[in-house]
Order: sequence, then structure tokens, then C-alpha cells
Amino acid sequence: MSDYNWCHGPHCHEQSTQSRVRGSGDNKVLRTIKIKQDSEYIRESVFSHFCNQRCLMDFIRLHKDRIVALAPRREAQETPIKVEKEKYESHRYEYNGNYNNPQRVPYMATRTTIKSVDNDNG
Ligand SMILES: [Zn+2]
Repeated sequence: MSDYNWCHGPHCHEQSTQSRVRGSGDNKVLRTIKIKQDSEYIRESVFSHFCNQRCLMDFIRLHKDRIVALAPRREAQETPIKVEKEKYESHRYEYNGNYNNPQRVPYMATRTTIKSVDNDNG
């Protein structure tokens, strides 16, 4: 395993940053960023191959058709859930034109919670 990857961003070497400048005198270039693979965190991250978000998104934009062809989705997926609604007492403030003396007014509000359900019944 090499100890670095070159950034795969198609325009990485066109971004004008000091960190990309290489060469001397009149032979200077902007060079693709070299990403050190010096930690497990980096090696397991998508940023093991992209130096930043822009390079990642440039790559995805350029190759999206081939990327999705790796695992095509022709149907929607679904996750079984239970939706629970519960009433609870809340309050709001009414001003009635008098902003120095707001009135605390109770009311019954509804809280909606999405709960997961076990999905091992085949
Ligand atoms: Zn890059």
C-alpha cells in the first residue's frame, strides 16, 4: 500500500493555492494535492482520495453516471416505521398590540414522532 494518494479531483491542479505551487523560477506549476495515508481515520474516509469537498463534488459531477451504474436503483426503498402522535400542553405568547405585557396562553399541541420497528419478519 502506498503511503499517499493523489487527489482525484479533476480540477485539483487548477486551484490557485500556495499549497499546490511546485517548481522554481519560471518553471512553476500548480500540482494535484498529495494526500498522506498516515492514519486509519484518513484511510477509511472518502477524503483519502479527495483533498476537499470541492474536489469530491467535481469528481462526482464528472463521473456520476458511471458511479450510479455501480449500484443502480430502479425502485424506491422503504423502511417500516410507526408514526406516533401525542397531545401535550404547550403555550404561546399573545401580545394584542401591547408588546410590554405579553400574555402566556396555554393550548394543546400535537407532537409527531417517527419510531423504527423491527424488520426481521421477512
Ligand atoms: Zn483536490
